[in-house]
Formats: sequence, structure tokens, C-alpha cells
Amino acid sequence: MSELTLLKDRVLNEGKCLPGGILKVDGFINHQMDPKLMMAIGQHFAQLFKDSGANKILTIEASGIAPAITTGLAMNLPVVYVKKKKPSTMGSAFVTTVHSFTKDRDYTVSVSREFLTDSDRVVIIDDFLAYGNAAQGMIDLVQQAGAQVAGMGFVIEKTFQNGGNQLREQGYHVESLVQVTSLDDCKITLAQTP
Ligand code: 5GP
Repeated sequence: MSELTLLKDRVLNEGKCLPGGILKVDGFINHQMDPKLMMAIGQHFAQLFKDSGANKILTIEASGIAPAITTGLAMNLPVVYVKKKKPSTMGSAFVTTVHSFTKDRDYTVSVSREFLTDSDRVVIIDDFLAYGNAAQGMIDLVQQAGAQVAGMGFVIEKTFQNGGNQLREQGYHVESLVQVTSLDDCKITLAQTP
């Protein structure tokens, strides 16, 4: 069985839905992690973005870091993660605001100007794509830096929350490994993909 089929099976069998269209996958992505599965995820993204011309992976803490690291490893590229608080040790930074619908609050995120510059072409990686707020925040930081988005990869896309459509309509190359089409009545429904 391919690792991607395994990922879909684990989402279906171990995923739990929470009120408000939230999928809990704490057993292998968001709390406990499965390194072997993460490696396979990284290799898959590396294949999907092999022609992207990227020189860097960009993600946001915390849960994006694991798939971003394995993607960076597979593509032999450095990985930068956007921080949810600006540490006092960070020098000059690009800053934006992101709305978290899982936590229902806005928060400020930042990335050092040292690690995102106008010579960068980044692949953005994250664990989930829902309404696209985190992704739009990262795009904003990339644009502030004068860098380029080479592509965007998400482990799980909840297609019914529409962030993916908006990003694709904006012209971005968006890939997701698992597409959840509905969590209605707490039933996890996945898109039928070959
Ligand atoms: P968006 O910004 O696209 O609305 O949501 C994406 C971000 O919120 C991701 O970085 C992820 O951490 C979190 N998120 C969104 N939906 C879910 C979900 O169903 N389950 C979990 N565990 N996190 C989610």
C-alpha cells in the first residue's frame, strides 16, 4: 500500500471531527507525529514541486514545520518558519496579521528580513488548508519581501471551506495530498482521487 493511501486511511480511521468543521488528527500529525509518514509526505511534495524553481521552503509554526522539514530534506532546500510571536532576538522583520478560525482570534506573525529576501522563490507548506488565512498571511510576507511563491502544498485540504479555490483562482500552484470534501454529521468524506 502506498504511503499516500495509508495517509488517507489514517485520516478516515483515526480522524475525529470537532464542532465548526475542524478535523482532529492528533495521533499522527498535530500532536503525536509519524516520522515515516512525514518522510513520505515530504518526498511526495518534492516530486510535485520538482520543477518549481524554488530555493526555499516556507511554513508557519507549529504544525507546518514537520512536513516542511521533510520536504526541505527531500528537495535539499532550507526551511524557514514564520513565527507566531516576534522574539526579542529577531532583528528587522516582515509582519502581518492572520485570523485563526480554529482558535477564533487574530494573531501577529513575523519572519526575519534575514531569511526572506527578494532573491527567494518559496514553496509554502502547511498541515491544513481551510479558509486560506494562514496561506494568505504567508503570501503577504513573501510579497513584502519582494520574493515569489513557487507553489503551495498542504497535507490536508478541507475543500468545503474554500481557501484552496481562492488560492487557485489567484493563480497559485496549489497541491494537497488529502482532500476532505465534507465533515457534515461528523462523517469524514474524502474526494475520490485516482
Ligand atoms: P486556514 O488559515 O486555511 O483557515 O487554516 C489553516 C491553519 O489552521 C493551519 O495552519 C492549521 O494549523 C489550522 N487548521 C485549519 N483547519 C484545521 C483542522 O481542521 N484541524 C487542525 N488540526 N488544524 C486546522
